[in-house]
This record gives sequence, structure tokens and C-alpha cells, in this order.
Amino acid sequence: MTGTGIDSRDLPLDDTTAHIELTEAYAAHNYHPLRVVLAEGEGAWVTDVEGRRYLDCLAGYSALNFGHSHPRLVARAQEQLGRLTLTSRAFYNDQLGLFARDLAQLCDKDMILPMNSGAEAVETAIKVARKWGYLVKGVPADKAKIITMDGNFHGRTTTIVSFSTDPAARNGYAPYTPGFEIVPYGDFAALEAAVDENTVAVLLEPIQGEAGVIIPPEGYLQQVRALCNVEGVLMMADEIQSGLARSGRTFACDHEDVVPEVYILGKALGGGLYPVSAIAADGDVLEVITPGTHGSTFGGNPLAAAIGREVVAMVETGEFQQRARVLGERLAAGLGDLIGNGLEAVRTRGLWAGVDVDPDLNTGRHVCERLLEEGILAKEAHGQTVRLAPPLVATEDDIDLLVSAFRTVCSG
Ligand SMILES: *Cc1c(COP(=O)(O)O)cnc(C)c1O
Repeated sequence: MTGTGIDSRDLPLDDTTAHIELTEAYAAHNYHPLRVVLAEGEGAWVTDVEGRRYLDCLAGYSALNFGHSHPRLVARAQEQLGRLTLTSRAFYNDQLGLFARDLAQLCDKDMILPMNSGAEAVETAIKVARKWGYLVKGVPADKAKIITMDGNFHGRTTTIVSFSTDPAARNGYAPYTPGFEIVPYGDFAALEAAVDENTVAVLLEPIQGEAGVIIPPEGYLQQVRALCNVEGVLMMADEIQSGLARSGRTFACDHEDVVPEVYILGKALGGGLYPVSAIAADGDVLEVITPGTHGSTFGGNPLAAAIGREVVAMVETGEFQQRARVLGERLAAGLGDLIGNGLEAVRTRGLWAGVDVDPDLNTGRHVCERLLEEGILAKEAHGQTVRLAPPLVATEDDIDLLVSAFRTVCSG
């Protein structure tokens, strides 16, 4: 015990410093948050404990694509909260089938496997791919290989960090899970060279979010698709951050008209209310999973299913994809004007931007601290890159505000 003398019951509720000290005293230091303590959120805006308002341009790393407290999602969650929340999969519940059908149809797949966090969905995809490799492809025991990409982010489990190329995420957690080979992202020749007869899957983000919104060269996803077809390898697209309207299409793979064998979904699937994740695939792949061979106490619970189904219904309207495209063009145009003027490069797809600040002038962290003073919440990705992903319910005025804050920060 490290007594700090702070007692939460005595905490003045409007004191930023007290909340930060309390958090740092009792919660492990696995994050380095900006100095802001949030208390409320509505749409694209949040309010801190001292009443200051901020435009949320991180949006929970895209978990908040529909904004904070979207009325439709909150209403559905509240209704379900009062009815039934958890059954375990030992029994059927009256929400999972509806959610599974609707999500499978959104993905144009036969079925889904529901989990909770994104990392669990990635783990599920890895397990499915290996099992499929042994049972269907005929890979010799223990030889299954999965190819992953340099700069990837797929979550934090011991297996997933085994193929991370970020030292901070990986170092100190050995021994690492074998069975993965890492190739440079966007380099088709390297991928082609890495595929062998024991390769069961290629696991990739169609756009790398945590790496700084890295978009692969045009045509790359189609090449990956074609290679997987020829080699009998599963293409597994981690659309946890890129999917569900963020990129201006339902899935980032849609930009190249590519359909992977396995979609991996999370983040926005929970509507910003609750952790909901899933993989979607056809029966020839997902039916390698049989009773007892995989599961989750919370996966597919009725509350998650009710929220997830409402999210699917909202995505089906196409309204959010459209907003991402329109607002994204506005953001790209505004930020584009600042290139050479504090910004080195801007990559955008839909309402999603990776902004490289001029390293001679600034670090990503410093820009985020300055943006905070201007009423904008954003988070640096790596080093000099700031990732922007405002909720898709943001307005044109919100986007203009974001651009003008960037202009202020870049000029100061
Ligand atoms: C956030 C993220 C994950 C991990 O999701 P968690 O819910 O944090 O476990 C996996 N893949 C991608 C692409 C992500 O952005």
C-alpha cells in the first residue's frame, strides 16, 4: 500500500489535479494521459470536471464513431438493461440470433463469433485460422504460419504482442508465441516471398490506425486478395479501427472492392457504450469451431447483442459513411493548406487523418498538448504523428474549428 492521504470520498469533484493524483496513485501507469479529466459527453463534445468543453477528435480510437451517448444507442441499451443483460452461452438468449444475423449480413458472411474486446476478436481469428489450417488445408501439426505486417497494432495479449514490432508493446513479455512472420506493410513482393505451404492466413489492417493512419499503396489489398486465393490462404482484415463507416465506406477493404475471408470487428461495434467485438466469416471457415473449443463468458450477451445490433442498423443506413466522406474531404482540404506550414504530410481516408507534424518544429505530443489548450482532444500516434478521428456525428463547424486550432498551434 502506498498511502497518499487522498480519500476519494473527500475529493472536490471539480478539481482536475486531485483526480489526476488519485488516478496516478491507484491506477497502474500503463498510459500517459493528457491533463484533462472528463466528466460528460454528448455527440462530438465532452466536458471536463471544471466545465470546459472539448471537441473529441480521438473518439475513443474510433470506438465513438457515433459520438458520445448517441440517443438511439442509449435508449436501446437502457431498454435492454432493464430486461436481460447476461445469460452466458450455456443458454440461448433472445438478442444474439438477431445481432448475429444482422452483422453477418452487413459483412456478407454466413456467421459471426461474438467476443468483447478487440484483442479477443483477433485471438479468435488466429485460433480459427490455425484450426482451419490443420483441419481444412492439411497443414502438418504445429506448423501453421500466420503472416503479419510491420507496424501492426492488433491488441495487447501475449500472443498478439509476440508479433508486434513496437518495442514498447513487446519488450519484456517473452517468451513469445511462435508461428508468425512479419513482412513490411504495403510491400507485395515481400508478402509473396513469405507465403509457404504452411501459411494459413495473412492478418492485416487495411489501413494501419495506431501506426499513424498508414494507407497501403493503391492496389495492394487486391494483390493480397489474389495471392490468398492462389495460395489457399485466409485473408483476415482487422477492421476494428478502420471499419464501420470511419473510412467513408462500411469497411476499409471496400475501397479496393476486396472481401476478406475473415472480418475482425470491435471498437465502434459497441457504440461507445460497451465492449462488443466479433469476427465474421463463412461457414467453411468458422465451422472449424465446435462446442467447447472456444468461448467467452460475456461474448454474445444480450446487452452487447442489443447494442451491436443497433450499431449495425445505423451503419446499414449509409448515413455515417456519407458523413465520413463529406467531413473527411473538408478536413483534408483544411489540413492540406497547412502542409509546409508546420505540417509535413497529411494522410486521410474518410474522417480519419494521420497528420505528420514538422519534426523540426514540434513533436506529436506537444501538438496534442497545445490542441488541448485550444479545446481539441487528440492523441499522438507515433513520434511526430497526430491521429485525428472525430466522431462521425461532428458538424461542418466542428471540422472547421479543428482545422483552425491546428492553424493556431502550427503558427505558434
Ligand atoms: C484497438 C485495436 C485493437 C484492440 O482492441 P482492444 O479492444 O483494445 O483489445 C485491435 N486491432 C486494431 C486495428 C485496433 O485499432
